[in-house]
Amino acid sequence: MTENIHGKVVVITGASSGLGEATARLLSAGGAIVVMGARRLERIQALADELIAKGGQALALQTDVTRNEQVKALVDHAVQAYGRIDVMINNAGLMPHSPLDRLKVEDWDRMIDVNIKGVLYGIAAALPHMQACKSGHIINVSSVAGHKVRPGSAVYAATKHAVLALSEGLRQEVKAFDIRTTVISPGAVATELVDSITEADVAANVRKVYEIALPAESFARAVAFAISQPADMDINEILFRPTRQEI
Ligand code: NDP
Repeated sequence: MTENIHGKVVVITGASSGLGEATARLLSAGGAIVVMGARRLERIQALADELIAKGGQALALQTDVTRNEQVKALVDHAVQAYGRIDVMINNAGLMPHSPLDRLKVEDWDRMIDVNIKGVLYGIAAALPHMQACKSGHIINVSSVAGHKVRPGSAVYAATKHAVLALSEGLRQEVKAFDIRTTVISPGAVATELVDSITEADVAANVRKVYEIALPAESFARAVAFAISQPADMDINEILFRPTRQEI
């Protein structure tokens, strides 16, 4: 699984917990250089220190993905330190589910800002570097909610449908530059994501659904699968669920 991973410079947003953290660990173990962004600097710095202590190469930079200039700074930092960016993983996200009639407008705004604009800012930051060297790989994180809408998940699902649409448009546009694009749509995975739900009753229901959740390494393995393919093979979409997840 470490084939084509060793030595790659991989930028990961939302690396301070859950899927991003697990991915940083797995890719670093495979010899990748990981450049991690998130708002909780102490967490990503501790992870970078841990990966370096194990013989890896890692950097942490405080990044709020709702700030275009901070996402650009994260990617530029990687390019300055290591000469290039091979993989951009637009992973940061949140899922404050609630029925629309509760009018949680602030939650809607945050989801749109982080889940959609954050991904766009990641694309904006990475694309010029990748186009200049005519290689690279952009991995966006959608969800099963990018394929299915359920009561209480309308806004989150809308943001994750948007990530699918952006990824498909990106795929078609960057072919000429030999840039690969992958969109990964996980089902339930045990992370801190449910903690982002601000309505107690909704959170309690989602926690029941998440009793069958997969460990975060499941997502990291999907990322490693996509990255480890030879350069002429582009894994465009991966959708996975816990075996026991029905919807
Ligand atoms: P976590 O809550 O564990 O991690 C979310 C990450 O996003 C954290 O590292 C957090 O870092 C970061 N983040 C949130 N807001 C911002 C921001 N403004 N700027 C920078 N980073 C931010 O959840 P997951 O690991 O589960 O979520 C990762 C992605 O996976 C999300 O896009 C989510 O929608 C998606 N997903 C998750 C599924 C699951 O079941 N877990 C299923 C399908 C998709 P910090 O707070 O330090 O900034």
